[in-house]
Amino acid sequence: MPAAKSDDIQGIFRFAPSPTGYLHRGHALSAHLNQRAAQATGGRFLLRIENVDTTRAREEFEAAIFADLAWLGLAWETPVLFQRDRFDAYADALAGLDRLGLLYPSFMTRNAIAAAIAEAGEEWPRDPDGAPLYPGNERDWSNARRQAEMASGQPYALRLDMARAMSGVPELYWRSVDPFGVEPEATHVADPARWGDVVLARKEVGGSYHLAVVVDDAFQGVTDIVRGRDLEAATSLHRLLQTLLGLPEPRYFHHRLILGPDGRKLSKSSGSESIRARRERGETPKELIAGLGLSVGQDRPTTPSW
Ligand code: GLU
Repeated sequence: MPAAKSDDIQGIFRFAPSPTGYLHRGHALSAHLNQRAAQATGGRFLLRIENVDTTRAREEFEAAIFADLAWLGLAWETPVLFQRDRFDAYADALAGLDRLGLLYPSFMTRNAIAAAIAEAGEEWPRDPDGAPLYPGNERDWSNARRQAEMASGQPYALRLDMARAMSGVPELYWRSVDPFGVEPEATHVADPARWGDVVLARKEVGGSYHLAVVVDDAFQGVTDIVRGRDLEAATSLHRLLQTLLGLPEPRYFHHRLILGPDGRKLSKSSGSESIRARRERGETPKELIAGLGLSVGQDRPTTPSW
């Protein structure tokens, strides 16, 4: 076992893919960094299947995750946590937020939101993922109107009343800690308001990614969240939800993204870049890992910026 880092963090790390497509090289980097960080700190490496969105997750992709990770030489603890088994925990978390008066049902469809924004006719603010911020006024509805609309059976989402949530918490921060000790630690001011009144559940799916990820990281005792920079903006929102739900604060580290030949970050839809497609073209795990800028042994990353 390599020597533990100076402050002996003995971290609990996790890789948490969503089975909505085949894994790509960005996932391989994330999974390897997490496993190596666990080894370097004498900690643990967990796997969680983020299939909370049962309308998008597919079993075929889930099976491919296990096969691809094993092919890459990764070894995770069992049992693996599946979000589809966790809807009771998400319901409890939602009930807690509801008791604080922070949730409201929202019936506006995506199309209605798009139409409201078009009508506003100005540059509409967007969240960090590029989606337009919620433009509606359902947060001001009376209880009686909410009950009546819900009873009508039309689908709805549960949104977080962001202004109200923010008014009840102190200034929030998140801490960036490199588990390999290469980059300096840093404290960042969290800015969850950029996300507006986010959806935390839908009538047909009892938890959103943002809700499920904070509930499950706490449930699994995850101390160190190492994930791609594309999720850095979400960390602000996660810190808010952790604070509202009374969950512990993990350390974060957001690693570089792997870019495709077009210079854009890989996505599950860029199929030719999937681990599976590369394996089928004859690439070996060693070659794939070396192509990520990682050395093939179980040591720390070799690149100065990871
Ligand atoms: N399930 C998320 C994804 O596949 C990652 C969640 C996380 O690492 O926080 O993009």
